[in-house]
Amino acid sequence: MTMKTIGLLGGMSWESTLSYYSAINQGVKQRLGGLHSAKICLFSVDFAEIEILQHQGDWPATAAILSQAARQIESGGADLLLICTNTMHKVADEIAENINIPLLHIADATGLELQKNNLTKVGLLGTKFTMEQNFYRQRLQDRYSIAVEIPPDKDRNFIHETIYDELCLGQINPASRSKFVEITEDLKNQGCQAVILGCTEIALLLQQSHTSVRLFDTTAIHADAAVEYALS
Ligand code: GLU
Repeated sequence: MTMKTIGLLGGMSWESTLSYYSAINQGVKQRLGGLHSAKICLFSVDFAEIEILQHQGDWPATAAILSQAARQIESGGADLLLICTNTMHKVADEIAENINIPLLHIADATGLELQKNNLTKVGLLGTKFTMEQNFYRQRLQDRYSIAVEIPPDKDRNFIHETIYDELCLGQINPASRSKFVEITEDLKNQGCQAVILGCTEIALLLQQSHTSVRLFDTTAIHADAAVEYALS
């Protein structure tokens, strides 16, 4: 078997890229054993540059930066590309157009996992961009027939601020965790069968042991799909 090289477009934030790096290596170790580890080609951007453009709504500028990075990952020898953030999948199509290797879309990996578990209605936590815009929810709905519910406005603001002001800075705050648990349980009470952690930092704060609501962590799912591909 020849192991493929996994390309990671990371740094958004680097806190969650660490989770990817660790999960992918754990996955390869689990499957191959011994001293095996993943072949990874990582390009990590400066998130401050990206975050400013996101909040200015200048998505074409983010697409240009990320496409350039993706080309460098491809020339570094990667066989597939992962964008290590849910939010920046807003410009996934533009990035994919700039490379010749496949892009493993985080919503596809997540949709397949939800389908495997026979789920049809789930809640979504993520940045306001991910929760409120169409690029993510619509894909789950159209391609995987999954209805996606989001928290109310006030809670969306809280989640968004926690992601940027705490989690992306490596701050884990128990009071924020309690609020995330509450929001997650509200979604369940509205009929959601599970909740997607649709931001790659959320699992740093909220884990399955904190709630009885079933959680689907997009970082773990995306990393696992990459390992599967690399070893196939
Ligand atoms: N990593 C986060 C996500 O999965 C948020 C940071 C970003 O805006 O890229 O959406």
